[in-house]
Parts: sequence; C-alpha cells; structure tokens
Amino acid sequence: RTVYLNGEYLPEAEAKVSIFDRGFVMADGVYEVTSVLDGKLLDFPGHLTRLSRSLAELGMGNPHSDAEWLEIHRQLVARNEIVEGIVYLQVTRGNPGDRDFAYPPEGTPQTVVLFTQSKPGLAANPQAQTGLKVVSVEDLRWSRRDIKTVQLLYPSMAKMEAKARGADDAWLVEDGFVTEGTSNNTYIVKNGTIITRQLSTDILHGITRASLLRFAAEAQMKIEERPFTIEEAQSADEAFFTSASAFVLPVVEIDGAKVGGAKVGPVATRLRELYLEESLKSAI
Ligand code: PLP
Repeated sequence: RTVYLNGEYLPEAEAKVSIFDRGFVMADGVYEVTSVLDGKLLDFPGHLTRLSRSLAELGMGNPHSDAEWLEIHRQLVARNEIVEGIVYLQVTRGNPGDRDFAYPPEGTPQTVVLFTQSKPGLAANPQAQTGLKVVSVEDLRWSRRDIKTVQLLYPSMAKMEAKARGADDAWLVEDGFVTEGTSNNTYIVKNGTIITRQLSTDILHGITRASLLRFAAEAQMKIEERPFTIEEAQSADEAFFTSASAFVLPVVEIDGAKVGGAKVGPVATRLRELYLEESLKSAI
C-alpha cells in the first residue's frame, strides 16, 4: 500500500513517525475519514470543512489548501486502486523534541498522514438487510466531542464492552439520553418522523448526518432534532445510525429488546438508498 506522509508518497513500511510525536504521546491530533465509492470521494467538501474546524478549535493551522487535500486524496485512491473503501487523514501537532504538556513553539511542523483502506462490498453491506444489535454504555468521553480528535480510547472500550455483551456496537448514554454511537450518529423513527439528537458539543457533527438530513428534508420526510432515551428507542418503529464508512445501517435490537419486530424497517432502507444515490451525485 502507498501512504502519504508529510509531502511524500511512500510504501507503508517506509512511512515512519517520531516516538515524540504529540499524536503518539498525547493523542494531540485530529482526523477525518472519507468514503470512496466508484473510485470517488463522498461528501468531500463537508469533511474538509470539519477538518478545518477541528484544527482551529485546537489552535492548529490547516497544513493544506482544499485543492491540495483533494489532490492527495485522489493520488492515494488512484495509486492504491481503491474502488470502494475509505481514505483516512490525520494531522497531529508534530514532534516537539521532548514530551511536554505545553504546545511546541509555533512553526513546529505538523505531522500529516493519509492512508487508504480498500473495502470491497462497502455499498452492498449485508448488514443493511439484517440490521445490527447495540447495547447502551455510559458515555464517559470528554465534553468536546464536536472536535474529531484521535483520542479514541473510550469509544474503543465501549465497542469492546458491546462485543463482550454479544452486540455489534454501543450507544452511549449521558444523563439518561443517547448521545451517539461509538463511531456514528444515532436515530430513531416514530410514526414516520426521524428523530436524532441536535448538534452541540455533546456529539460529533457527522458529515453523513448533515447530508442525510438534507436529503430527507428534500424528500419531504419529517425530522425532529432532540435527544431520546434508550427506552424510547426500544419502543420506536425503527432505529439506525450513520457514519462515513457505514452510510446508513439499521439497528434491530437495543439492550436485548427487539426494535420494529427485529426486522429492518422501510425508513432506514429508504434513507440508505437515498443517501447512496444522492451522495454519489456530488462525489468527486
Ligand atoms: N460520531 C462519532 C463519535 C464518530 O466517530 C463518527 C465518525 O467516525 C460519527 C459520529 C459520524 O460522522 P461522519 O458521518 O462524519 O463519519
């Protein structure tokens, strides 16, 4: 696999980063994941806008222009012959030379890493037909979840707990309400209305979420942005989640309670089709 590191395209085995890098020692970095379908990038402008925002929130500059980011993504997709898959992008505050809580001086070069993962069958994921099981886990992450940092230990722990409990993923709960999934935004459907938590610092502002809600509104579907509980989700008609690499995937069981008779519902199915169709139109 060819990867990108600080201006160079390299075989992955040759891409080396310092042990002092703040991404490694402090989880001081941000990332983006953009999906690729038909060799094209989905929702790309949205991912770049969020990247800029994450960097700015942490007092980091953006090392590349949008045109440069696009060129690097396209190079990696082409060099690795990605038809379906993802491009992962990470920017860290770089290598200060020593471990120190204070940020390194301005002008310290950031570390920029991008790599691809080929995922044949991403669009034809059979889980879209069978649905997934989730369990609730307390949300113990920090309170700036709107910044897409590489600090992913707690979501990993929650995912492992979900697997240990026989589920596919965890829905995180804070003050009695679902915030989001370990790596996705969460939704329920009741009487045809799509319900999803409103944007705040409590959740990541999903790019797939933004596009899907726009497509759903354009299709005259009803949307309510508000928090919901696990109990409300269990008695909903449908439940589902979104992320760049999952698109829209249905949830048919929550904490052992079947949702919608444990069958994948029409709204989640329609929204998955709608998202794939519409986002491909603007793929670049
Ligand atoms: N919420 C969290 C915590 C995430 O990690 C992610 C994606 O990785 C999402 C939501 C979904 O965001 P997006 O649709 O931009 O992939």
